[in-house]
Amino acid sequence: MKRWIFTILLFLLVGVLANIAVAWGCALWRVAPILASNISEAASGESYFEGGIWLVQYARRAGIAYVSSQYRSPWPQTPSLAPEDPSAAIPKWSRIMPPTLEGRHRVATCEVDRACGWPWLSMRGGWDTDLDAPAGKRHMPVAGVLVKAPADIGLGGRVLPLHVLWSGFLGNTLAYAVASWLLLWFLAGRAKATRRAFRVKRGRCPSCGYDLRGELEAGCPECGWRRETAESGAKARAE
Ligand SMILES: [Zn+2]
Repeated sequence: MKRWIFTILLFLLVGVLANIAVAWGCALWRVAPILASNISEAASGESYFEGGIWLVQYARRAGIAYVSSQYRSPWPQTPSLAPEDPSAAIPKWSRIMPPTLEGRHRVATCEVDRACGWPWLSMRGGWDTDLDAPAGKRHMPVAGVLVKAPADIGLGGRVLPLHVLWSGFLGNTLAYAVASWLLLWFLAGRAKATRRAFRVKRGRCPSCGYDLRGELEAGCPECGWRRETAESGAKARAE
């Protein structure tokens, strides 16, 4: 009873560790989807406010998703882009909020959020950029550790995400726990089959390893392997 609970907890722990390792691996080594070509989801939108433009870009590819929210000066000429609502482009997992209060955001600021994990997004982290701040203090990490500062607004940075996205985290953890259990079960089966074949080759009982000197037909007196069937077979013949 206690042993199987311990086994389940052990595999769940393996699942958690694998989940975090994969999410951090994606965060550090997987190129953000804005810069990549194979994007599975994308959305963007922009709206104007007094003295500036609010621009949201979102994109997702396997293992990583990216959303940025920028406040910048209006384009020199009003662009002819469709005026899609920027807040509609912000995914549910993001911390980024629409500008609800007048003057809450200044021009030349940018918020970036990244979510990582596979098969589901399980952790997120990002940074805020203030281009008016002195160099070295422009990019402030949010819910993560900034491993590499972005070269410009939003692009090229690397953040180690620390905020847990629960539904994806649980899903990934269960997936990796089950996968590791199946892998161990498969490997244990292979090891057992190999050991049995090795014992038979050396004329020993495949079940316990007792030396039968190659006389495998009669079964094993040590552990009873093949004995029951051998005995009942002999009895059947005698009768
Ligand atoms: Zn035996």
